[in-house]
Amino acid sequence: MAVPKKKTSPSRRGLRRAGQHHKLYAAQPYSCPNCGAHSLPHTICPSCGTYKGKEFITFKAEEEEATEATEE
Ligand SMILES: [Zn+2]
Repeated sequence: MAVPKKKTSPSRRGLRRAGQHHKLYAAQPYSCPNCGAHSLPHTICPSCGTYKGKEFITFKAEEEEATEATEE
């Protein structure tokens, strides 16, 4: 029977258990379907302010651009 050569230290044991935790709760790579910027899943995109195709936050810069476009 294979026997471990050294006793696993509490630190190493903790790292092993935390590794599973970090794997479970690591942020998934997610990019906004509207603008393609990296954002967190299930949250409003910080760069364009949309979530599930709906616009929730309108930024002042975008509003100014929109008004400029209509004036021209
Ligand atoms: Zn976006």
